[in-house]
Parts: sequence; structure tokens; C-alpha cells
Amino acid sequence: MNAERRAYGPLGRTGITVSRLCFGALTIGPLQANLSVEEGADVLRRAFDLGVTFVDTAEIYRSDPYLKVALRGRDEVVLATKTYAYTAEGAEESLHKALEGVGRSWIDLFLLHEMDERTLDGHRPALEYFLRAKAKGLVRAVGFSTHSVAAVRKGAGLDDVDVIHPLMNREGLGLVDGTAAEMFAAVEAAHARGKGIYAMKALGGGHFYADAENALGQVAALPFVDAVAVGMKTPEEAELDWLIVRGLPVPDGLRRRVAARPRRLLVEEWCQGCAECVARCTHGALTINDGRATVDDSRCILCGYCASVCPEFCLKVV
Ligand code: SF4
Ligand code: SF4
Repeated sequence: MNAERRAYGPLGRTGITVSRLCFGALTIGPLQANLSVEEGADVLRRAFDLGVTFVDTAEIYRSDPYLKVALRGRDEVVLATKTYAYTAEGAEESLHKALEGVGRSWIDLFLLHEMDERTLDGHRPALEYFLRAKAKGLVRAVGFSTHSVAAVRKGAGLDDVDVIHPLMNREGLGLVDGTAAEMFAAVEAAHARGKGIYAMKALGGGHFYADAENALGQVAALPFVDAVAVGMKTPEEAELDWLIVRGLPVPDGLRRRVAARPRRLLVEEWCQGCAECVARCTHGALTINDGRATVDDSRCILCGYCASVCPEFCLKVV
């Protein structure tokens, strides 16, 4: 039996209200479905029309052209983006790139991308730049995304971090340390200290789509999770996820249509075996065999990050 849940709520103590489903914009972009700008913007707009008011992107996703079109006249939509910048200069460049890219005069959430316990220290100058940008009204809240339990524990104790975007799913698929249970406990403690929490990878990058109601529903039901970001590339996926996050019944036909499209990482045949992608994957999902990249599907979380470093453009989540 589903239990209906609220559709909107506060993001920690940021003063920002978000829909509890966040549209993950990686999926529509060049690293994954590579939709045309109009097609991608249309999927975003269909999600907004359903009631979604929260979008997550990142500098490496190259999704700004879609957002620029879809966000026109939608100032109520909360936009989060992320950067790997670790210096103040790099952070400034990322902020200006994002502002120009999406055609806004502010960014709601600016996060440091994919932090671990150690990089949280190393990227401190970038965080401090975003805190100064926040004081000027260019950014409304700051924080970081992470696949690491230790980073969540550390972030919980940092007073100037407003938001944490952690990897959370029932099997801990994609965690770089700890277990699913340890991540859930660390997130609960961070939320109790006032951090805004929006989870990622509740569906394991698409691995759990066949059981989406349980996998996504479990994370969305946690009282210490303010929102859940899910990558979507079709209006039907948005419709399905929006129902699940609110604990509403899913029509059989919709469930079947979405589950029938499993995702995988495709390696094109012109791969040169250079191993750039192997070095980029923090999940140990890629190896070189017979001069070509080979994917271990049991480890791959379909994040698409390896695609951003391939000089031959031969990796894609399809
Ligand atoms: S980075 Fe691209 S070309 Fe190099 S091994 Fe990986 S898939 Fe092949
Ligand atoms: S192989 Fe690529 S898509 Fe899969 S987890 Fe590694 S970086 Fe992400």
C-alpha cells in the first residue's frame, strides 16, 4: 500500500522550498541521451508542468543549452549546479559560465562536485568563493555532492555548508566507501544538523528501474531526505518518478513502458584503448581488454562521467 507524501518541502535550513523530485539533467545531455535542445527542453518543461520545481545539473554535463530554453519564464524553478573547481579563480569562472549558460542572474545552489573527505579540504578556496558569491546574492546556498560516507560525516560538521547531495540507494551501488546503511545514518545526522539533503542515484543510475517504486520510494520516504534527484530523459520517466516520490499508485502501463527501456554504457567500436576512461571511473567499472574499453555492468552506475574524458567520443549511456 502506497502512503501519499508531500510534494514540496524545505531544503534544510536554506529557506529554499523544492519539489521532492529533482530533475537530474545529466540524462538529456551529450554524455547520455544527447537529445536535441528542443527535445531536451521539452522533457524539462513537461516535468515542470507536472509540478517539478527543482533541477540538478553540473558543469561537465553540458546541459545548459536545454536549461536556458526550458527555464525561460520559470524563475520559480530551483537550479543546482556543480563544479570541480578547487581555486577561487576556477570557482569564479564556473559561476560566470553557469550564469551565462542558463541565462539567469543567480544560481540557487552551487555545489562542489564529487567530494571525498580529502578533497573537501583541497577545494576549500572554491567553497569560500561561493560563500562570497552568496553574500552578494549571486548564489543562494552552497554545498557539495558526494559518493562518500566519510565526506557526508565531515560535511555535517562544517557550519558554512548548506546542502549535501549524497549518493543513496538500497545496495550502496556507487559508494566509494562505507555501506548503504552507513550512508543513510550519516545523512540522517547531517540533516539533524540543518543540512539540506537531496539524494542522488536512488535508482542506481537506472539499474533499479524495473523495481523503481521500491528503490526510489524507499529513499523518497526517508524523513531526513528533502528531495531526490533522478535522471530522466522522457516525459514518461518524469511522470513515473513524480508519482513514486509522492507515494502515489503507478499505472501498470506506465511502469511497463519505462522499465522496458533499460540503460547501459555503450563503447563504440572505434575505441582506441587509451585508458583515459579507466582512470576517470571511480567505481572500477572499466578495464582494457584486447585494446578496447570493457564495462563491468555490475559495477557501473551509469553516471556517464567517463564519457567526458574520452578523446574519441566513444562512450555513451544509452
Ligand atoms: S577513453 Fe575512449 S578511446 Fe580511450 S579507452 Fe576509453 S573508450 Fe576507448
Ligand atoms: S564506467 Fe563510466 S558510467 Fe560507469 S560508473 Fe564508471 S564513469 Fe560512470
